[in-house]
Amino acid sequence: MAREKAIGIDLGTTNSAMAWVDESGRSQMVPNAEGSLLTPSIVLFGDREVIVGKEARSATTVSPERVAEWVKRDMGAPVFSHAIRGEYLPPEVIQACILRKLRADLAHSLGPDANVVITVPAYFDEPRRKATADAGEMAGLTVLDIVNEPTAAALAFGESLGYLAPGGEPKEEMTVLVYDLGGGTFDVTLLKLAQGKIQTLATDGDVRLGGHDWDMRLVDYAAESFLRQHGIDPRTDPAGLNRVYQVVIEAKHTLSARNRATIRIDHDGKSAEIPITQDQFRELTADLLERTAYTTRQLLAASGLQWKHVSRLLLVGGATRMPMVAEMLSTMTGVVPDRTVNPDEAVARGAALYAGYLLVKRTEDGPPADFEVTNVNAHSLGVEGIDPHTMRRTNVILIPRNTPLPATHTERFATKSKGQRSIVVQILEGESSIPGDCTAIGRTAVRDLPDGLPQGWPVEVTFEYGSNGRLSVRAVVPGTHHEAALSLERAGGMSGEGIARWKQPVGASAGFEAFGAAAEDLPAVPRPSPTPASPEMPRTDADTGFWSSPVQSAAAAAATSGPTPPSAPDRTSPPASGRTGQPASPRRLPRWAILLIGYVASAIVGLGLGYLVLSRLRPEFFPLPW
Ligand code: AMP
Repeated sequence: MAREKAIGIDLGTTNSAMAWVDESGRSQMVPNAEGSLLTPSIVLFGDREVIVGKEARSATTVSPERVAEWVKRDMGAPVFSHAIRGEYLPPEVIQACILRKLRADLAHSLGPDANVVITVPAYFDEPRRKATADAGEMAGLTVLDIVNEPTAAALAFGESLGYLAPGGEPKEEMTVLVYDLGGGTFDVTLLKLAQGKIQTLATDGDVRLGGHDWDMRLVDYAAESFLRQHGIDPRTDPAGLNRVYQVVIEAKHTLSARNRATIRIDHDGKSAEIPITQDQFRELTADLLERTAYTTRQLLAASGLQWKHVSRLLLVGGATRMPMVAEMLSTMTGVVPDRTVNPDEAVARGAALYAGYLLVKRTEDGPPADFEVTNVNAHSLGVEGIDPHTMRRTNVILIPRNTPLPATHTERFATKSKGQRSIVVQILEGESSIPGDCTAIGRTAVRDLPDGLPQGWPVEVTFEYGSNGRLSVRAVVPGTHHEAALSLERAGGMSGEGIARWKQPVGASAGFEAFGAAAEDLPAVPRPSPTPASPEMPRTDADTGFWSSPVQSAAAAAATSGPTPPSAPDRTSPPASGRTGQPASPRRLPRWAILLIGYVASAIVGLGLGYLVLSRLRPEFFPLPW
């Protein structure tokens, strides 16, 4: 029986790449239909065809309104931040167009079956991960899983050093720092590599920082110089801006090999030659590089290690070719960056190896996998609670960031009001204690609680975070013998129906019309925000606090608190230990204050009325002054 093919796709901000695991178990790159290992992640929405890659790139200067690029940066947002021919498409739909082209190219080289693993930055949050998996599904791929880019890079590195070979010589354990600066995202991860074992220790990053930001500094530098020379700003016209963008990228790449470069701009019948040196470029972008250095230092601090413990430094992502990156890292860490793996290929190769690992794990009676992979969670996971002292909503973290997966944690909370019939558990992802600053990733409800539960009754919430990055949540009300009904709704992202709907135009690839029609048919497609944020769970009236009831207000809940249900717990037992949910209804005035206000108000009204009646009956007591 032919072995299922294991395929890895590095879905990059600027370029995408594909690899597979060959019959001998080694990773191999797969060229696209044009014969290149890298496919520009650019989509041109033509009238009759959707074109992806190099050809689409050449259209950016002619018809920028038909082209979508750097879409990965907007993943997780409801729509892509730039209108395509007047329509706002969801970013996962545009990513699906790229994946569809890759799928067609894969089918051409390897046959139609496509069990793929798609890579994401380790720092991607849940909505961004889900959007990536959805894009794969829309493209008609069988997505085995999503894997973190640094983990994939480390797998490729491990393969090249023989760490993944079954029965190989035991190798020395090493701590590896993977610094991944791509076109649009930055990730930094510490891993432990041992014979047949890859263990992530800690991860950090910035999903809105990459080579593109370096490009934009050069665009501004060149455009301002052109403006000074000719009094025209080429950035004001989209096609002009794209032309400047193309030439500065070339200059940036030249500066990775040479000390100086020249940016040539032709715009509006005028031209300029703008020289730039490596030192000038370094100065123009010093703050960007420092942002990556800061994150790297933070990561080391979070791992509890010191630079002397780091044995290898892996550079991944095209933007690490800028000499300033290796210089900065060597100075900071004292380690010379390793060039064993190709920064453009490592992620796709590692993803293919991971797909192979998953396929082996899937066959229960097959041989054991050659290696083991342990990940950590990049963002803390918690629930929204109410602090009993300050009465403020707070993010109660159950699984802190950088916890090895799988992880399970149970925390005790308490009902916020008497007679509460249901509890809404709002699941948050993020480090801030303020829920509004975190990403609301889902919601679970415990419904149909028994009548008459007192305020402060314990509720246990358990988070189980699997090694595949999937979260399951349980909420139990101890002592009630009550099987609570749970439902987990994924926040934001697309519904199954939405995915099925977009699959059609993505699969047909018959030109823009089908996409425009699908976008128009969608109910109220949200307009983009300038900086696309992760989608928030829609808040409802019912969502009024940690232990809020979606069906009853606190007052109504109190009013309906009835006799003890047969299955209800012992009312004399103390309220839950641990964190306590308190009434989340608006703060009420104390009783004495309400009474005082009542007395004062009625005294004023009484005096006024008395004055009016008396002035009618005995007007002589009230002589008018005129
Ligand atoms: P990736 O997302 O890994 O494909 O990386 C793409 C980014 O790497 C883009 O910003 C490219 O401009 C940048 N890049 C590729 N080659 C070079 C180079 N030789 N020098 C500087 N940046 C480069």
